[in-house]
Amino acid sequence: MFLSFETFLDNLDGVREQIAATCEEAGRPAESVALLPVTKSHPLDAALYAHKAGIMAVGENRVQEALGKIEQVDFDIGWELIGPLQSNKAKRAAQRFCRIQTVDRLKILNALQSHAQDADRELSILLQVNAGNDPNKAGVSIEEAPALLEAALQCSHLKVDGLMTIAPLSEDLKIARSCFSALRKCRDELESSFSVKLPELSMGMSGDMRLAILEGSTMVRVGTALYGKREYA
Ligand SMILES: *Cc1c(COP(=O)(O)O)cnc(C)c1O
Repeated sequence: MFLSFETFLDNLDGVREQIAATCEEAGRPAESVALLPVTKSHPLDAALYAHKAGIMAVGENRVQEALGKIEQVDFDIGWELIGPLQSNKAKRAAQRFCRIQTVDRLKILNALQSHAQDADRELSILLQVNAGNDPNKAGVSIEEAPALLEAALQCSHLKVDGLMTIAPLSEDLKIARSCFSALRKCRDELESSFSVKLPELSMGMSGDMRLAILEGSTMVRVGTALYGKREYA
């Protein structure tokens, strides 16, 4: 059975306490880290709970599943795509999501630009960087990130808010931490070489958010710690 709203609120308190404590440890204001609840694999109620708790957006990683929920939703909440996007789904993605966090190649970039233009909207994006050099993870390499950013900055209907990464799965937390630190360094270098602001660093999940916040995360994407275990990763 899906968890109750009361249990969700308890979990939310716990996650927010953890964020606040880590921010204090890092000497950062607690408001500097946003929480994106990840509702994938859960019923639409997961997004409703977030909405009722005053949260503005949730994350989904499968386009088809997310679009199904977006069709049904009758309350106001934004949807961020945090999973892979194929170009045959770019049109509906560009129309329906408030932000796409997983732009990692030119083909997707150009498809989103063209569909956002057709839809007459400005679409926010993050560039997904494979900062942990993980062969199992999507994302542009750190070396190729400048070229992708350069192209993205030329897209009239896309707004690049920053970068996103997923740390390699490993028992060794040092590996996640060095991935987060590499993403921040990559962001700093891109900001200075392109003279742009890339304020958003989307990094950290239920198991590694403390390290991500210590390394400068501005958005943690949290599923399990809010909603419990799910059917798939
Ligand atoms: C599923 C998912 C999350 C949330 O993971 P949890 O470990 O359940 O917090 C975060 N980011 C991405 C990209 C995901 O696919």
